[in-house]
Amino acid sequence: MIETGIGALYGVGPARQRALARLGVMTVEDMLHHYPRAYEYRGNVKCLRDCSAEEKSATILTVATAPRVHMIKRGMSLLRFRAVEDDTGDVCEITYFNQNYLKDTFAVGVRGRFYGKIEKKGGAYSVTSPAFEEIAAGHEDELPPLLPIYPATKELSQKQLATIAQLALRMALTAADAMEDPLPAELRRERGLCAYSYALRNIHRPTDTQALAAAKKRLIYDELYLFSLGLATTRSRTKAATAPACERADVAPLEALLPYTLTGAQRRAIEEIRAEMCSSVPMSRMLVGDVGCGKTVCAAAAMLFAVQSGYQAALMAPTEILARQHYAELSELFGKLQISCALLVGATTAAKKREIRASLAAGALDVVIGTQALLSDGVDFANPALMVTDEQHRFGVGQRAALSEKNRYAHLLVMSATPIPRSLALGLYGDLDVSRIDEMPPGRQVVDTFVVDEGYRLRLNVFIEKQVAGGGQVYVVCPAIEEKEDDDEDMSADLYLDDVPLSHGASASVGKQDRPPIKHALTHAETLRDSLHGVRVACLHGKMKAAQKDEIMQSFVSGETDVLVSTTVIEVGVNVPRATLMIVENAERFGLSQLHQLRGRVGRGSNKSYCVLVSGERTGETARRRLEVMRTQHDGFEIAQRDLALRGPGDFLRGNDDGDGIRQSGGIRFRLADTCDDAELLEQAMQDARVLIERDPELASVPALRRRMERMFTPTEGTLN
Ligand code: ADP
Ligand code: MG
Repeated sequence: MIETGIGALYGVGPARQRALARLGVMTVEDMLHHYPRAYEYRGNVKCLRDCSAEEKSATILTVATAPRVHMIKRGMSLLRFRAVEDDTGDVCEITYFNQNYLKDTFAVGVRGRFYGKIEKKGGAYSVTSPAFEEIAAGHEDELPPLLPIYPATKELSQKQLATIAQLALRMALTAADAMEDPLPAELRRERGLCAYSYALRNIHRPTDTQALAAAKKRLIYDELYLFSLGLATTRSRTKAATAPACERADVAPLEALLPYTLTGAQRRAIEEIRAEMCSSVPMSRMLVGDVGCGKTVCAAAAMLFAVQSGYQAALMAPTEILARQHYAELSELFGKLQISCALLVGATTAAKKREIRASLAAGALDVVIGTQALLSDGVDFANPALMVTDEQHRFGVGQRAALSEKNRYAHLLVMSATPIPRSLALGLYGDLDVSRIDEMPPGRQVVDTFVVDEGYRLRLNVFIEKQVAGGGQVYVVCPAIEEKEDDDEDMSADLYLDDVPLSHGASASVGKQDRPPIKHALTHAETLRDSLHGVRVACLHGKMKAAQKDEIMQSFVSGETDVLVSTTVIEVGVNVPRATLMIVENAERFGLSQLHQLRGRVGRGSNKSYCVLVSGERTGETARRRLEVMRTQHDGFEIAQRDLALRGPGDFLRGNDDGDGIRQSGGIRFRLADTCDDAELLEQAMQDARVLIERDPELASVPALRRRMERMFTPTEGTLN
């Protein structure tokens, strides 16, 4: 019944059906879940003399004079009458423009609630085009205090949508089978949630604010719970599959080769990984730790575990530079352990790629390190046991789906340096277990951070020369490559719309005009070459050919160049211990987490390191606060929390290029829930979902819930990925 097409409702013909379809409403059930986006409060009925012209208020009046129509100019008319207030006898003049048909509505003696801005001039009250609801004699109590405001379109008015919603409710409530509550009564009791029918009735037509609050809580929980169930199902399917048990896992040979001792946190993480990889239940684990905490060696251990037991492993990085660096570091380590290792990136020659694919398929190659190129067709492993992805947040949801597809029969380790706040992590990675590295290797220094403006340019140049003279190296990051280019070619997904409220994307262009002019990597590199003495400057950006990037990066790593001017291509992972100064130009244009990543590029060696954030004078207030956070905070987790508070969850949730974040993942769109505000509820829902799926993976004991899940996850989507 609830799945009936919306056309079954009285008054919904083909034209309205089309209009509703544009709102995503196809069935009666869709309409029930087309929730109002806001409510107008008309419950606080006032006397005329207490009303103001500043804000709308509700008054109850009786029509006292017959409405008269006045033609004011060609095609324009107004309808005017007086209405009186029962108790006070105060009179209000009421005017509607071009709505002559209302004449019949307002017969003398008709009583109702008028809602509008009441003006008072010389003791006379007047109001223009107030909203009106008639009150039948003796039915005063039935006026709803809250009126829904729906997401509407040009073709469908609020009134029409409200009517359709009421019709949908009536149909659903009277049909015998329709309003079955998807939540088991026990769970509802436990979480203090109201019944489904009550929630739907009160979200569309709340009897009062408390009822609305209860309805919202219930429906938010539903969204989160269904989402969590999707994740838990995926998870249980993963766990039900089998992966190669890497029983001979032993970290000792690797540890013996390291020039340092592992931190306690690294040891714990490696042990968690080892324990899971030893079993044939597939691991789905995320390794979270601040920039520089040493995640790579944990990944190396995991890959070693796979190879020790005779299997293969892959490591996937989001950029070619990072993949190359991992390869450079790990192939040396693996070489000493007699583990064969190859690099496969977009720029790898076709012949070389063929060779790598062939030896992977033959089982002759132990480890492959690469970029997304690893996901492309034709890469098959003879005995895959492990897939590691680095800097997970840079991969879009789509790629993640492809990854779990490829990874079906292996363990999965995901590394992330973005200390995603817990609430978001649950939403984004609720199907993953988490290992946290919450300890830095000993002796790590705090990178002193300064926020400066153009006035410091000369001093800054002197500072660069000083660093270089002292044997240090310098990064200079610019937001764009060259003039003319269509803004920010190289900026990653983190690019920040400064001071523009997230919910009003349309006004973004307004914010842009006020931004300081941006520094371009190519021209800025030229300027630095001219103004710095005895300093070798190189420039690196995303439009270069891989080989060229590699060459430039290599010359910086080996110390042949002193200053590397670049776009954010260097953002993630790159490790140059001699680098002591990070300069970020137009720092106001970067998000906090991104700045934190950039700052993490320095302070990796033993020399004192600095980060200078250059920002224009016209920087907005939010940007200023953001830079202040960077100046005073050094803990990645804390910074992520502040980032979240300053700019909302949008940027965390935004996928990479495919633009889909959590809201779209797995076909669920949250209508009411907010993973940030409702973090606590999300945690409960996750927990409840896991409990249920563990006990009853097929949802056999909860048929109503099962049916609702089936309707939500169409067969093609199947699971959340
Ligand atoms: P991230 O977690 O950001 O990926 P890396 O794995 O790149 O960090 O490690 C950063 C640096 O710290 C590397 O140079 C690495 O060799 C070094 N390192 C890792 N673990 C330790 C440790 N326990 N003691 C000292 N240095 C370490
Ligand atoms: Mg790393």
